Amino acid sequence: MTGAQEERDELYVRLKEFEGRAAATAGVGKDPVNEPMIRHWCEAMGDTGPAYTGPEVIAPPAMLQAWTMGGLSGHADRSPAYEGLFGLLDGAGYTSVVATDCEQEYLRPLRPGDRITFDAVIESVSERKTTKLGTGYFVTTRTDVRAQGEPAGTHRFRILKYTPAAVRRALPRTGRGLRPRPVINRDNAGFWQGVAGHRLLIQRCGGCGTQRFPWLPGCNACGCQEWDTVEASGEGTVFSHVVMHHPPFPAFGTSEAGGPYAVALIELAEGVRMVSNVVGVPYDKVRTGMPVRLEFLRTDAELELPVFRGGED
Ligand code: ZN
Repeated sequence: MTGAQEERDELYVRLKEFEGRAAATAGVGKDPVNEPMIRHWCEAMGDTGPAYTGPEVIAPPAMLQAWTMGGLSGHADRSPAYEGLFGLLDGAGYTSVVATDCEQEYLRPLRPGDRITFDAVIESVSERKTTKLGTGYFVTTRTDVRAQGEPAGTHRFRILKYTPAAVRRALPRTGRGLRPRPVINRDNAGFWQGVAGHRLLIQRCGGCGTQRFPWLPGCNACGCQEWDTVEASGEGTVFSHVVMHHPPFPAFGTSEAGGPYAVALIELAEGVRMVSNVVGVPYDKVRTGMPVRLEFLRTDAELELPVFRGGED
């Protein structure tokens, strides 16, 4: 075993000592289960389930975590164990974090007026793993949620605390920095293969023919998992846009310091929409309804992105 491996294993032993320790104790939901939050959730998710409206309304089960969340102001009671685990990982260089997956179990429906309390425990810490994102440790937290004091469900939430190897490799020593790498996985690999060949591919459902973007494993309209692709013509219009001022990010900005830049939601001629950048137009001259045309922008040696050129017709 090399010295570096011994050092890592020693870290793993220290991380394992956090298993079973409290991540939150006697947490209290900021609001009782309530109809406005249920309605907003259903609108955001496009969930028109009949159980979530009317006099006998229940909360969508997948909202379980929402009732425990601290919002912008947070919960005051993040546990010393959780702080300690994160401090240990940060100190060892595993400073990035990404949520990887969650599992939920539902024990009873939640109804308006139910008061939510919860406890959370650090359930497990994985061995050191290397993923496409980088190398680090998976941390699983289990939250037991109660309504009116009765068990209502369990929420398991897994994160990866990691050192982002790919980003570190790609960062230049000088200059404006590089754009973040896209996360390419089984569900979207075909899209990026298309980009490599300068083709913008839209998924088309094999069941009902609905076109969709971004790429997903199944159809939102009918649930079918068969699909093929349609190549976008490249014509589109700006459906909506925002100008980003903060935080400054030199890789995106129109100035060395990462000055303002426009982010646009482009509606393709085929009807689907995608978030992209508009080129050829100053950030403050991008307008809703502006016709744009697809092109491919090489941002650095390893990355090409579909962008939209406007303002020349
Ligand atoms: Zn379909």
